[in-house]
Amino acid sequence: MTDGSMKYVSTRGSAPVLGFAEAMMTGLARDGGLYVPETVPVMPADAIAALAGLPYEEAAFRVMRPFVGDAFTEDEFRGAIARAYAGFGHAARAPLVQLGPNQFLLELFHGPTLAFKDFAMQLIGQLFQLALKRTGRRITIVGATSGDTGSAAIEAFRGLPDVDVVILYPHGRVSEVQRRQMTTPVEGNVRAVAVDGDFDTCQARLKDMFNDAAFREAVGLAGVNSINWGRVLAQVVYYFTAAVALGAPHREVSFTVPTGNFGDIYAGAIARRMGLPIRRLMIATNRNDILHRCLATGSYRTEAVKPSTSPSMDIQVSSNFERALFDAYGRDAAAVVRLMAALKAEGGFTVSEGALAALREVYGSGRADEAETAATIAATLKATGELVCPHTAVGLKVAAAHRGREPMVTLATAHPAKFPEAVAAATGIRPVLPARLADIMERPERVIRAPDDIVALKALIRERQAA
Ligand SMILES: *Cc1c(COP(=O)(O)O)cnc(C)c1O
Repeated sequence: MTDGSMKYVSTRGSAPVLGFAEAMMTGLARDGGLYVPETVPVMPADAIAALAGLPYEEAAFRVMRPFVGDAFTEDEFRGAIARAYAGFGHAARAPLVQLGPNQFLLELFHGPTLAFKDFAMQLIGQLFQLALKRTGRRITIVGATSGDTGSAAIEAFRGLPDVDVVILYPHGRVSEVQRRQMTTPVEGNVRAVAVDGDFDTCQARLKDMFNDAAFREAVGLAGVNSINWGRVLAQVVYYFTAAVALGAPHREVSFTVPTGNFGDIYAGAIARRMGLPIRRLMIATNRNDILHRCLATGSYRTEAVKPSTSPSMDIQVSSNFERALFDAYGRDAAAVVRLMAALKAEGGFTVSEGALAALREVYGSGRADEAETAATIAATLKATGELVCPHTAVGLKVAAAHRGREPMVTLATAHPAKFPEAVAAATGIRPVLPARLADIMERPERVIRAPDDIVALKALIRERQAA
């Protein structure tokens, strides 16, 4: 079944074609690929111009509506958007701040967990609930997190009647603010579990659960990781609002995006294909620079992950990059299947000359090491008075090296107070949490510890089903 005219196909070509709601609920396609729209709708220049000055929610409705088809009625979709962003701490939702001539920061950290992931997670929480209510189904979302994704998911799904959420996080390896954001919500349908192990352990147990068909069926297992098409779509909106504020469609704009799993920057590529005049999308990586190396040399090769002060970008494989490869290879699913097989078997692949040229049409890249990141946090404070988080600093360092004549917008992906140690080490100033979160250090925590044991973890998840 599909929703209206908008259809989604897998990057690996052999999974069922789905409508918007099903593609969102399914997450990873059955052939291991990622869902992408069959065709990207173009937004005419006058419709882009008409976004100027609109409330964020109205702009979001207009930008996303063509992708949704008739999966939801207009009223349902408007209601979901309104509920998603009502809890944000800034009326503009994604305010643009000027740092210098032609240099801007897009603040994406005014959501409930202070990172850009709230933009997508809050919306898909509402959309999941709408879709489930219609079918009378109940699902269990299980996720593994190194910090930001888990807290955003718990915040987004807390209190929703037809969804349970269980987040696995590595015990002792997330920041105190991140942990408290996961352990202080009181709603019974969301739980965070501290697993003995590291992030890879959590991810491995998550994989085990998804590979157990009987368990998957019994608890209605679902995922909301960064490959979820619904998440990508929600992130397309702020590229429009920022570019229009700076003169689009009459003026070109470039963006620099602190990048890990390539979800956020891929949303920019969708905006560009819709007709938004984006000159360049700069991929900014920390010292885990597989994407920068790939853009520079054509060789995509995994290395061991090196911990950094921008942990949300510490990745070995960048999952959404598969979507960019699918585009760069002219939507040749067979080519994507070959590349992914080589990645699995040999730990890497080489992008063809034609595909590399296609990638470079859209994307540029750069990296910042740990010293450069700290120096950028300090220099930004000195020059502009703004405290930025380490992820944002990686972006600013790369943006500074790639300034053209057009405005450059760097995405500020998290609030500095989410990473206070790194910011304090660079500047001597400890960033403070916004007032609405100030009591998080006093709220009681609900800590659930679990061993690295699949049987125990499954029992924990079944417990709630029985309740
Ligand atoms: C998740 C995250 C990123 C990386 O985003 P991707 O969509 O995975 O590329 C960057 N910065 C912060 C603060 C994040 O939480």
